[in-house]
Amino acid sequence: MRILLICIVGLLLQSSTVCGDTLIYAARMIDGVSDVVRQNVTLVVRAGVIAEIRDGFSAAGADEKVIDLREYSVLPGLIDLHTHLMSQHSRESYTERFFMEEADYALRSTMYARATLMAGFTTVRELGDNGINSVALRRAIDQGWAVGPRIFTAGKSLATTGGHADPTNGLRGDFRQDADPVRGVINGPDEARKAVRQRYKDGADLIKLTATGGVLSLAANGQNPQFTDEELRAIVETAGDYGMAVAVHAHGSEGMKRAVLAGVDSIEHGTYMTDEIMALMKERGTVLVPTLMAGEWVALKAEEEGYFPEIVRPKAAAIGPVMRDTFRRAVEAGVPIAFGTDSGVSVHGENAREFELMVDGGMTPMQAIQCATSKAAKLLRADDRLGSLQHGRQSCR
Ligand SMILES: [Zn+2]
Repeated sequence: MRILLICIVGLLLQSSTVCGDTLIYAARMIDGVSDVVRQNVTLVVRAGVIAEIRDGFSAAGADEKVIDLREYSVLPGLIDLHTHLMSQHSRESYTERFFMEEADYALRSTMYARATLMAGFTTVRELGDNGINSVALRRAIDQGWAVGPRIFTAGKSLATTGGHADPTNGLRGDFRQDADPVRGVINGPDEARKAVRQRYKDGADLIKLTATGGVLSLAANGQNPQFTDEELRAIVETAGDYGMAVAVHAHGSEGMKRAVLAGVDSIEHGTYMTDEIMALMKERGTVLVPTLMAGEWVALKAEEEGYFPEIVRPKAAAIGPVMRDTFRRAVEAGVPIAFGTDSGVSVHGENAREFELMVDGGMTPMQAIQCATSKAAKLLRADDRLGSLQHGRQSCR
């Protein structure tokens, strides 16, 4: 309950269209960076930015608004680095694409976006949709047409033919045509470059690619490497030209290692991460986004008869539990870690469950909070304005 109330501050400030001086009284303040909890402070918010943090509770002037949280703790709006707001997995997920229009996906996503914001997550990194619906959702939220978190989106994930994000996987022959770089499917470095440029043209903020097989795709292997070194390098270099970070879905170790060596920014899931890869990531500052909720959810659903197609079920049963062990090893090894849930696999709005799993896996509660605040903002390359309660950070838009 306390956690929910803490996050309301972020909601009040973010949804406010008036960004005048506001004093926030807080019994306790977690700033997202320091391990120290400050007691009895006043945050002064001016023109949407934290202007000052004072000890004690300052008296408000006539034109100053007060948010009184003298019985509560305040922390930065939470950041989920791995969401899929265009979907939420169910038994119908494999067939809805034949019945739903793009507009249906976009409109439904406003419901998931609202649930995410109301759960205290004021920023998300959206890692893969069918095309550009998440760009439209980002615009709708920015314009005030819909209520939801601030979005950084990858648009359509990049895959190779038959790979984890090839949209024609598993379809019958006449539906199973070649998908091209415009649809995010590449073969060879030239197509890789074109696919990155297409995402830039589409309005994406970053690039996501699926370096290995995945659990939920209609394909046999959840671990095999699916990009060559040349393709990965072409993507990282081209993304760099456009100032875009690269987030990489990876379960198997070979594809994961290739991606780390190619210089990507984050490994999502990281299931079969070896000690060697952990050392490489530490050395290079590559961040693990562990998505423990996704592992928990697929393992649970694999037990349910008929929930997954038979090609998916064994992958879900095998990969889910491993993610937890890998996380524990990564914490012990000191791999850089930031917070992401893969919500859309699990239910939107339950994102905070990830904190429990991270603490179960060996983190302190404060470390887990920092993963969803300052460390997440750093991976977004937005830590100068988001992810901490410090002078100059944004409080509303
Ligand atoms: Zn995902």
